[in-house]
Amino acid sequence: MQENESAPGVAPIPAAPLPSAGPKPPAVWKTALAWCLARGGQLARALWNSIAEAARYYWGIREPLREYIAGFGTNLRPESVRLREVRLSSHESHDRAEHESAGWKVVIPARCVVCGEKTQNPPLDEELSVDNAARAFWIPIATAMAGAALGLFLWNRWLLAAAIPLGVVLGYLMREKVSVRLRLARCDQHVTRTNVPQVLAWGNTLVLRFGNKLVRKAFLYGETMDSAVPQPEATYAGLPDPVGQSAEEHVAETIPLAEGPSPDASTIRHDQPPLFGSDDEPPSPLVP
Ligand SMILES: [Zn+2]
Repeated sequence: MQENESAPGVAPIPAAPLPSAGPKPPAVWKTALAWCLARGGQLARALWNSIAEAARYYWGIREPLREYIAGFGTNLRPESVRLREVRLSSHESHDRAEHESAGWKVVIPARCVVCGEKTQNPPLDEELSVDNAARAFWIPIATAMAGAALGLFLWNRWLLAAAIPLGVVLGYLMREKVSVRLRLARCDQHVTRTNVPQVLAWGNTLVLRFGNKLVRKAFLYGETMDSAVPQPEATYAGLPDPVGQSAEEHVAETIPLAEGPSPDASTIRHDQPPLFGSDDEPPSPLVP
């Protein structure tokens, strides 16, 4: 019982160093205010710098962002873009692309990525670092929507006004670069056209836009036999990839038959007289 009674008696001792109990309350209060003002000034400067940096970042990625927004309307885009474009999802397996934690690796057929002509130039490895436009787009949108909802709930329009720059800063702070390694070829005329293919990262989707639709066709369906060129790195050209292919693009493929007779030997030619062998065959043992 005595211990229980002594316990409340101990309590005032730690309570003694409270600021209000200090001998000079105004000095502490002023110091605290000065500290807060200084920190507030630093915070305001840091906030302003963040907003300026975020604005610079968004200005720098305006083109990928525009492409991302335009990509929502797949069927509204011009045919010339759709026929050159491949969209690869990281959730699906692809013959010519693989997605790892380090990024994407894509092997493009041995055609010039710009003009689509076959080339014997050795393949090049190109490393790219692409901004994830989906993340840069959705974080500010989600923040602004949350601010709008909260502003409606609390009936405070300033929440929405604050949510817009906050979302831009958040989108900048949570920005992501996607690493892409491309193995591709360029013909002699297009060695310097390094802006082709266009590479875009939309969340888990990688978008490649080649210079010519022939490259896309070879990428998705493989080379036909009559136009095949040696490709040591492409070990397996299997089924066509169903991603991003629409019904009208199911083209007939030339399937080589392994052990079939040559077409010339098996063709019936009506414009030539029939040819018969000589009659000097060994007689059949069954016929007398
Ligand atoms: Zn070319």
